[in-house]
Amino acid sequence: MKHLVDRHRIKPKSRVDLNKIPTRGDGIDKDKAHHQLQKMAKELADLQELMYAENKHALLIVLQAMDAGGKDSTIREVLSQVNPQGCRVHSFKGPSSLERSHDFLWRIHKETPERGMICVFNRSHYEDVGIVRVKELAPDVVWKKRYDHINAFEKMLSDEGTTIVKFFLHISKDYQKLRLQRRLDRADKLWKFSPDDLAERGRWDAYMKAYNEAISRCTTKDAPWYVIPSERRWYRDWAVTSVLVNTLRGLKMKYPEPTIDPTKFTVE
Ligand code: ATP
Ligand code: MG
Repeated sequence: MKHLVDRHRIKPKSRVDLNKIPTRGDGIDKDKAHHQLQKMAKELADLQELMYAENKHALLIVLQAMDAGGKDSTIREVLSQVNPQGCRVHSFKGPSSLERSHDFLWRIHKETPERGMICVFNRSHYEDVGIVRVKELAPDVVWKKRYDHINAFEKMLSDEGTTIVKFFLHISKDYQKLRLQRRLDRADKLWKFSPDDLAERGRWDAYMKAYNEAISRCTTKDAPWYVIPSERRWYRDWAVTSVLVNTLRGLKMKYPEPTIDPTKFTVE
């Protein structure tokens, strides 16, 4: 399992070209992936509980994707078994005027997880070198410096006990067309459709360029990027969950040493 998902990790200092990375996962069959996912989702819940008990680590999951890339359903599937008290999801929309009057990491830092917790960022500070770059919402001199700021920020979080894993849910432009059309065709999905999505779709190539640079410059040992082929949802859920379970297993967490001798107590 580990070597299969390791393929998706972007090594530090490598140059990513998303156009050359597959958008449909392979290497495992659907039934096997389903079966493993059930088991791993439970293990993820156990690992979160252990993380809470040990009170040493926190886990930050960053999710980025093009519109209709499946961020919401990934969160639903991957965290299905985790205790709701042990995890939090924060969705970053366009910044408020207060948020805009601070540095770009101000609103981000406030939402990072405390020890014991899993926190998912549904969009993140990567929008500040994504949409901000593509739509020229900040001058070049401002966003170009942000890659270094992001790396320093993530390094600090990691040094202080936060494990960071970043996922780009990779789909093709053709697949996005299908998914957006589905939102238009289905009465129960129409609420998800925004005409803005079509404008952003028109900037597809500029987004790919921005993500190529962000992923290449900000994939580090302590805060790696994974590019997950996401057109087969069962593969996507399996791959994301595998990465999370492997990452948490790697922390070698332990329940705290007992401070009492349980044999000395009787519950009447
Ligand atoms: P859904 O899949 O439900 O559409 P979403 O994450 O696309 O979810 P929306 O409310 O449609 O949510 O979009 C949020 C928008 O906010 C996105 O277009 C995103 O690029 C934008 N956004 C997020 N962070 C920033 C930022 N720092 N600066 C400018 N725009 C941002
Ligand atoms: Mg949207």
